[in-house]
Amino acid sequence: MNTEKLSNRLDTVAGFVTKGSKLADIGSDHAYLPCFLAKKGVISFAIAGEVVAGPFESARKQVLAEELSDAIDVRMGDGLDVLQPGEVDCITIAGMGGALITSILERGKEKLHSVKRLVLQPNISAISIRKWLLENSWELVGEEILEEDGKIYEILVAEKGEPERPYSTQKEAGLLLGPFLLQKREEPFKKKWSLEIANWQRIYEQLENASKTAETVQKKHELLLTIKLVEEVLAE
Ligand code: SAM
Repeated sequence: MNTEKLSNRLDTVAGFVTKGSKLADIGSDHAYLPCFLAKKGVISFAIAGEVVAGPFESARKQVLAEELSDAIDVRMGDGLDVLQPGEVDCITIAGMGGALITSILERGKEKLHSVKRLVLQPNISAISIRKWLLENSWELVGEEILEEDGKIYEILVAEKGEPERPYSTQKEAGLLLGPFLLQKREEPFKKKWSLEIANWQRIYEQLENASKTAETVQKKHELLLTIKLVEEVLAE
């Protein structure tokens, strides 16, 4: 594929990579993101990390085909294991679940000392990333939400700073929905959370019909609280 033009999702991730960054794109697959950024002149050095042989080969071939081997080093390994301390100052991790992204950051913590910016695009469970950032002194500095090909994606940008700052009001809602996203309340945001509410209501009804245990009672209680929280935000 030609990396002149990325999907809107990856293009939005790319837009948060600061010019002149030394980038690591973890879980790079075809390395489209670092190739695009190198060709645009946004970065002059990147590491494309992949843990699976097939995508690693795809990344290697793409970088060769685009004649970017001087700028992009394709490395095989798990998460941040592919990095030497101090090598990069920006990390992108896109297209995985929030829990996997969080576990990659947690396991590679000692590689984050030189990193100034994280650009993270979880397919699900952005809340787990927001909680991890909060607990690890990373301040969420921006968020985007977009719909593409029938899917809704969130993009989270963090820098070292004051992790509590974005949550000065509405902490619980902010962690779930995103403190910046809930301020902007764009169409994809409203659509995502309306669909989630419908889904939670379905689960609630299933629990109503299930045998009553302490666990189902607790689960129903939690679901009702979450539905109420999100409904209130959407109604504002
Ligand atoms: N980042 C690209 C994007 O957003 O289009 C590719 C996303 S693809 C769905 C996820 C990629 O992450 C896969 O190629 C997978 O092999 C890789 N991956 C999953 N876990 C990983 C890990 N622990 N370390 C490095 N790569 C990983």
